[in-house]
Amino acid sequence: MFCTKCGVEMTDQDRFCARCGQQAGGATPPPPPHAPREPLTRDMANKKIAGVCAGIARHFGWDVTIVRVLFLAGILLHGFGVLAYIIGWVAMPSNPAGVRAPSQSAA
Ligand SMILES: [Zn+2]
Repeated sequence: MFCTKCGVEMTDQDRFCARCGQQAGGATPPPPPHAPREPLTRDMANKKIAGVCAGIARHFGWDVTIVRVLFLAGILLHGFGVLAYIIGWVAMPSNPAGVRAPSQSAA
């Protein structure tokens, strides 16, 4: 490998450049930016009823089981989960193949 600063050849054992002192491999790369969220669509590939829970879980990066438990808890406690589920069913577009939608940057 070669020094990223001055270009002098280094061995794999060298942790620092002998000429300029640059750390081997250069500075640690910045962490990758957060992946863009999945669009909020009903996940038809992983659905149990209409894919609302799976779609929400995918959108927020949550475990679908947690989302289902929360919905179930909402149903048992207040009946709110049923309403929320129906709203999601109506409001969220379906995503038949569970494929990632193309970037929405192109308007
Ligand atoms: Zn160097």
